[in-house]
Amino acid sequence: MSVRTGREFLSIPGPTNIPDSVLNAMHQPAIDIYQKDFPALTDSLLAGLKTLFDTDGETFIYIANGHGAWEAALSNVLSRGDKVLVLSSGRFADGWGETGVPLGLDVEVLPGSWRHSVRPDAVAARLKDDPDGLIKAILMVQVDTASSLVNDVEAVSKAIRSTGHPALFMVDTIASLGTMPFSMKDWHIDVAVGAAQKGLMSPPGLSFNAASPRALARHKEAGLRTAYWDWTARLGPIHYQKYCGTPPEHLLFALAKSLELLSNEGIEAASLRHSLLAGATSAAVARWAEGGVLQFNVTAPEDRATAVTTVLFEQGHTPDALLDYCNEKCGVVVGIGIDDLRGKAMRIAHMGFVNAPMLLGTLGVIEMGLKALNIPHGPGGTQAAIDFLAHHVPPSPAPASNEGT
Ligand SMILES: *Cc1c(COP(=O)(O)O)cnc(C)c1O
Repeated sequence: MSVRTGREFLSIPGPTNIPDSVLNAMHQPAIDIYQKDFPALTDSLLAGLKTLFDTDGETFIYIANGHGAWEAALSNVLSRGDKVLVLSSGRFADGWGETGVPLGLDVEVLPGSWRHSVRPDAVAARLKDDPDGLIKAILMVQVDTASSLVNDVEAVSKAIRSTGHPALFMVDTIASLGTMPFSMKDWHIDVAVGAAQKGLMSPPGLSFNAASPRALARHKEAGLRTAYWDWTARLGPIHYQKYCGTPPEHLLFALAKSLELLSNEGIEAASLRHSLLAGATSAAVARWAEGGVLQFNVTAPEDRATAVTTVLFEQGHTPDALLDYCNEKCGVVVGIGIDDLRGKAMRIAHMGFVNAPMLLGTLGVIEMGLKALNIPHGPGGTQAAIDFLAHHVPPSPAPASNEGT
């Protein structure tokens, strides 16, 4: 017995839902890579990305997933033997650091926690302990998709600058770009990394670097540069070189449509939408947690990402049966816990192309599964999410009357 036939809800933190208009944008024949108007498409994408990263530097598009953009970022500004400091707060900053090991970087991890954000004072303390400036770069994520933590990029950047340390500040926005504010310029970030398949609602396969003027200057001396990732080669006048070969045409068509959707909504409105959906999710989880089994992974509400919520299972319960139920019986695919939280957590994604019914549908099905499987939980989680949204999303004011004009 199942109630599955219907639209499947993909509620995982990447890849995320692809809007029909983005899918349709790819449904066209391949074009000549030397077609005259193709460079204009690339220019518009690079400019769109500059707006999203809010940089007065340069942006680069790679035919790669996020791991590729990680390697691209490191290889463009660092040299073999350079020390990098990883600010740990889950899986992904650590993963970025691990990418540097085979490159010959000396990777140091500043221990953190999966349950609270990076502490700016701990970063400043470590940098003060490096009077000779051996640390060449600092790596952090804005949102860690495994722990569902958000780091305060601006505060960490301030802490770094308060020490006068010259290390480059490099930030992974793969899970956060398009879901919350970000500004390389205002927050003094040197290198940012992004990818297409999370907040940007596009198919996996494209990822990005954004480089500040300071990073572009440092790039000139970087010893790890390779032909494929090299920024300088991609900055030249020849369109073909911008992708170091054949452009990924259909993924570019998709990205153009996604950036158009995001720009039409506006980044502020999109950020607000993500906050509202995250707030509704928190309201539901808080209610369910009253049963003593489910628990927020991130303890302080201000440390919680607006893109994804990681929920722990305690008292001997595991998420597997619930996730299977949601998928097999109802067609809702909820994210598994990864790395340290494999088999111990579920991740409810609310990033990218998601609206209230999609989120409420997901929460409703999770609650249905909790009930069907007799997993202890406080009742009324979905109702709490509805109440939260009803309270925070008031009706539009009535249009002004035209009477008498
Ligand atoms: C998903 C993700 C990555 C990895 O991206 P891939 O495209 O899978 O290589 C890196 N960092 C963060 C924060 C992510 O969410």
